[in-house]
Amino acid sequence: MRIDVVTVFPEYLAPLNLSLIGRAADRGLIDLAVHDLRTWTHDVHRTVDDSPAGGGAGMIMRPEPWGEAFDALVEPATPPHLLVPSPAGVRFDQSMARDLATQRHLMFACGRYEGIDQRVLDEARQTMTVTEVSLGDYVLFGGEVAVLAIVEAVTRLIPGVLGNAESLAEESHNDGLLEAPGYTKPAVWRDRPVPDVLLSGHHAKIARWRRDQALLRTAQFRPDMLAGLPDEALSKADRAV
Ligand code: SAM
Repeated sequence: MRIDVVTVFPEYLAPLNLSLIGRAADRGLIDLAVHDLRTWTHDVHRTVDDSPAGGGAGMIMRPEPWGEAFDALVEPATPPHLLVPSPAGVRFDQSMARDLATQRHLMFACGRYEGIDQRVLDEARQTMTVTEVSLGDYVLFGGEVAVLAIVEAVTRLIPGVLGNAESLAEESHNDGLLEAPGYTKPAVWRDRPVPDVLLSGHHAKIARWRRDQALLRTAQFRPDMLAGLPDEALSKADRAV
């Protein structure tokens, strides 16, 4: 997968070179490039923003540098899916991450100030799929943190990126439930034992315990997720929890 990120703070995206994402890039699974929007400015101050038309607080990002950035980065025959972080966008979730993980080329446009001139998005929609995407119902300074989160969530679903693909199947949001709590060694820590069943070696009982815990946790923290599950997703044993 190719990923381009356009931002006025390229250094903000440096963590993408660390850890599993960096290793996936080293192994050729991801071709990641971060671009400074100011590359496409032409004045001495490298200006990317201006006052809002119609007045009001804050600044809006001018359209020209964005237009030139897309002209430089987009191959018209094979346009990317453009993702524009915005608190006014559709809420990012695991199902969107799964969909994005199948795509060939993602491009992110990081807004700052009061966001990007709307005409940039309208123009881009003529040639590519554009999705305004929100990390949640709160307002950040800029799109960079959203890009870090989205790129992590998406790239770990690309086959080969995670060492153990089984962990994807079991984790929260994969089957509509939150994952059961995890434990490791030592068997007792500060008088707190690991639940007996997890040390029993009885695989069926362990699986049932984990399923029960997942159901209880989801009911406690995310009753909306439980309510949204189709009838067939819950067995008789599940309903008895
Ligand atoms: N004026 C905008 C509004 O009220 O919708 C908020 C602009 S915000 C201060 C600046 C930039 O941060 C946005 O253009 C967007 O890129 C990013 N941003 C802020 N909150 C976000 C969120 N919840 N999800 C994704 N991106 C966000």
